Amino acid sequence: MPVLRRPTTGSGRGPLADRFGRVATDLRLSLTDKCNLRCTYCMPAEGLDWMPSAQLLADDEVVRLVRVGVERLGITTVRLTGGEPLLRRNLEGLVTELAALSPRPVLALTTNGIGLAARAEGLAAAGLDRINISLDTLQAETFVQLSRRRRLADVLAGVRAAREAGLDPVKINTVLLRGVNDHEAVPLLEWAMAEGVQLRFIEQMPLDAQHAWQRRTMITAAEIWARLDAHHRLVEDPADALARGSAPAELFRVAGTSHTVGIIAAVTKPFCGSCDRVRLTADGQVRTCLFSQSETDLRGVMRAGASDGDLADIWITALRGKQAGHGIDDPSFLQPDRPMSAIGG
Ligand code: SAM
Ligand code: SF4
Repeated sequence: MPVLRRPTTGSGRGPLADRFGRVATDLRLSLTDKCNLRCTYCMPAEGLDWMPSAQLLADDEVVRLVRVGVERLGITTVRLTGGEPLLRRNLEGLVTELAALSPRPVLALTTNGIGLAARAEGLAAAGLDRINISLDTLQAETFVQLSRRRRLADVLAGVRAAREAGLDPVKINTVLLRGVNDHEAVPLLEWAMAEGVQLRFIEQMPLDAQHAWQRRTMITAAEIWARLDAHHRLVEDPADALARGSAPAELFRVAGTSHTVGIIAAVTKPFCGSCDRVRLTADGQVRTCLFSQSETDLRGVMRAGASDGDLADIWITALRGKQAGHGIDDPSFLQPDRPMSAIGG
């Protein structure tokens, strides 16, 4: 797999700058830790102990924190995630309020797509700009094996509805598991090209609640590239590489077409050096990295009467503690206590 040039975020200037010169402008905002699927690489069959609702940020608290982020801290993109964000009551109302902020952030959603068919148009009308839909297989039985629910048709309907609602781009997030769906890399790419959506493969990360991840069984980005390239020659596009900036996916053009495919080598080729993300959990904790061992409480101080300026200062201080990298290869690496679904993927 060829190596593309990776520009860094660079200037080190900006309110949410860290000690390594990176500046966070992209907020990953978790709206709930609950989910209606049970993807094996994410959570156990019985689900998890969901957060008590009193701990969750209320809508006005979510909007206030994002307002502080965009008005004072240079946040330009807000990605709503979870758990499953479509399960958040009043999601459309929240999107409307976030779209009314000034400066208006780009609003994106990461979803498993269940129920999206009926809601894509309303979400787009409310101000949603972009969407990522997770889909790991095109086989109904494999979908059940992976997610422990029989919902493939719902997800496919959601993908179509997202396109029809004008959300652009529609990206598909795919995790391949060895011996389960890894033979579907090429069919998934061909399906994505036919549907006019952008496929992005993500290496499986050690973020499952069961702590069952094993590096030796993980399908690597290099393997994915080789499987795809054997059927559809993938070419590097220097323009894509430059445009990539801090985006984690290495983009390849499928030769002879206008389609691209992304491969996110989160484990084998970390992009921490150009990370521009910061996360806010559904219970109001700032996390500077998916793999952080610590977090900073905004909910408690906000409920105790902190001003917007106080909240901004606490958030800025949290960023100063951002670690250089996720350290998965370090012998001292520890998987975080919170699983992906409770952090916000
Ligand atoms: N429920 C929504 C969904 O599935 O799109 C949003 C939350 S989910 C945690 C966000 C993304 O994280 C999904 O694309 C999912 O496939 C991915 N994900 C979850 N666990 C993962 C893991 N252990 N490694 C890599 N990606 C993971
Ligand atoms: Fe739910 Fe998303 Fe986790 Fe799957 S990856 S269990 S859809 S939160």
